[in-house]
Amino acid sequence: MNLEMKNNKYRIINYCIMEAKCRVATFLPNLEYIKLKRGEEGVNMVMNEMWKRGHRYDFIKMKKMEWVPIEVRKEFLEVVIDVLGWDKGKIYEMGVNAPRVSFIMRHFFGLLLTVRRVFEESPQMWKEHYSAGNLYAASYEEGHVTMVLKDFDVSPLFCEYLRGFFKGVSNLTKAKDMKVEETKCTFRGDPYHEYTFTWEP
Ligand SMILES: [Zn+2]
Repeated sequence: MNLEMKNNKYRIINYCIMEAKCRVATFLPNLEYIKLKRGEEGVNMVMNEMWKRGHRYDFIKMKKMEWVPIEVRKEFLEVVIDVLGWDKGKIYEMGVNAPRVSFIMRHFFGLLLTVRRVFEESPQMWKEHYSAGNLYAASYEEGHVTMVLKDFDVSPLFCEYLRGFFKGVSNLTKAKDMKVEETKCTFRGDPYHEYTFTWEP
C-alpha cells in the first residue's frame, strides 16, 4: 500500500469514528478517580478545559446512559494529560480503576465475574459502552486469551486507557494477576487492535 492510499484509509477510518459515541457513564469513574487523586479542584480544572475546547457537557447532571460523541472521550484523555500533567501510565491506572466503580459494569454484569464470562460477554460489554466497533475473543484457552477490537480507532492514548480498563475488568475475577498487553494496534500499522490476556489458570 503506498502512502497516499494509506492516508486515505486512515481518513476514512477517522471519518467513521467521528460517528461513534460513548456513554456518559464511561466518564464518571474517571471523574471519581481524578477527584481521588487531585480533589475537586482537579475535576474542575479538567472540566473547565473541556468547556474551553468546546466540549460543553456536564457529565454529572446528564443521564448515565446518554450518548456523547467519541471525540469527547478522545479530547478528555488529552485534557487530563495537559492540565493535570499526567502521563500514559496514569491514564492506564485511571482505566484500571474504572470497572470497579462503573455503573455499566455493576448494572449489567455484576461485580463478581468468572474469567470465562468476561470473555464471553465482552461483545455485550462493549456495546453497553460504545456505539461502534466490535470487541470479541478471537482465541480462548485457560491462561491465554486474545481479544480483537475492530473498527474503533480513537487514539493511542485511548488504546492505553482500554488496556487499563481490561485489566480492571480482570480484577473483578479471581484471576488477580492477569497481564494485559496490546499486541496489535492500528496506530502501529496493524489492521485492528489486539489485546492479549495471560494469567495462571
Ligand atoms: Zn490500539
